[in-house]
Amino acid sequence: MEIKLHDKIFTPYIEQDVIARIVKRLTTEVANDLKGEIPLFVGILNGSFLFAADFIRNYKGDCEITFVKFASYEGTTSTGNVKQLLGINEDLKGRTVVVLEDIVDTGNTLAEIYKIFEDKGVKALKIVTLFYKPLTYKKSLNIDYIGIAIPNTFILGYGLDYDGLGRNIPSIYQLENPNKMKNIVLFGPPGAGKGTQASALKDEFDLIHISTGDVFRFNIKNNTELGQLAKTFMDKGDLVPDEVTINMLQSEVETHPEAKGFIFDGFPRTEDQAKALDLFLAEKGMRIDAMIALEADEDTLVARLLERGKTSGRVDDQDESKIRNRFNEYETKTAPLKAYYTNQNKYVGVNGIGEIAEITTRLSEEIIKL
Ligand code: AMP
Repeated sequence: MEIKLHDKIFTPYIEQDVIARIVKRLTTEVANDLKGEIPLFVGILNGSFLFAADFIRNYKGDCEITFVKFASYEGTTSTGNVKQLLGINEDLKGRTVVVLEDIVDTGNTLAEIYKIFEDKGVKALKIVTLFYKPLTYKKSLNIDYIGIAIPNTFILGYGLDYDGLGRNIPSIYQLENPNKMKNIVLFGPPGAGKGTQASALKDEFDLIHISTGDVFRFNIKNNTELGQLAKTFMDKGDLVPDEVTINMLQSEVETHPEAKGFIFDGFPRTEDQAKALDLFLAEKGMRIDAMIALEADEDTLVARLLERGKTSGRVDDQDESKIRNRFNEYETKTAPLKAYYTNQNKYVGVNGIGEIAEITTRLSEEIIKL
């Protein structure tokens, strides 16, 4: 749901659990590099207070933390605006100082930080930032740890504000983009009609349809390396390994930089794929708006698939044991994604039994709401 702060509208961008995973990863990376040390973490107020709190909560070794604030004051010198640091009282000589920043944008604040710590005799100065905007960064100063690189969108929440407001929002929002995309995960067990429905919906909403199954089949037909690899898994009805599938999906998305949105059909199929997708989209300023699921019972679907197998030429549609194996893969690895998207308030269930056109209408009604 969008929110309004002052005069502007903001839309959801990065979910709380995605942020939590990024913070955890940063903490682990820093902790691994600083084994045996007692670092002094320095949070830069105001923006980094939530990030610093979560970072510290995850940090297992001994450490200290302090917060500092930059105050601008009009200097009497001709250089004009000079920054002063408020709050550093510790003796920093010989200490390993780790600065925790919420966001590095132009790099101006970072340059101040470097300047201020320059003559404090620290043993090492490390910079950790949760967000980094490579497109606006103008400096060549080193950033040691980056949570996530994001495009040049205005963001707030999780400590970041828009003119004072929004710091208390636990997830990240971005300034409303007038060309808002619609990115949908079309979900459901094998044979639920995802491919058929996606074909109709992509035209109606001008979206790019990516079916990972179709991409694999295309590669098999053309006997590519990817196809040869996928075939052994697909023919048995097993899932293709995550790493292979995630890389493939990412390059498919990247071939459509002008897209108004995507229908993901057959992806994600595991929780690791869903997590990778969240992160990958966030790096592009994008997000999943909804998982729309076609709900149907297994026996109806097995009958449908056997019927399709008579004409589709798909090896995995022709043998009931292979079909049952696909359902087994679905139940054990894919069905848990319902909970994943429900937690993000993005799960929408739609009755997948009925006439094709009737089901398309049910789906359209949900997509229009996004
Ligand atoms: P589909 O056309 O969606 O029914 O997919 C057919 C087969 O392709 C599956 O049974 C898997 O072997 C493979 N496949 C498609 N998408 C994925 C995915 N996201 N992860 C792993 N394997 C996949």
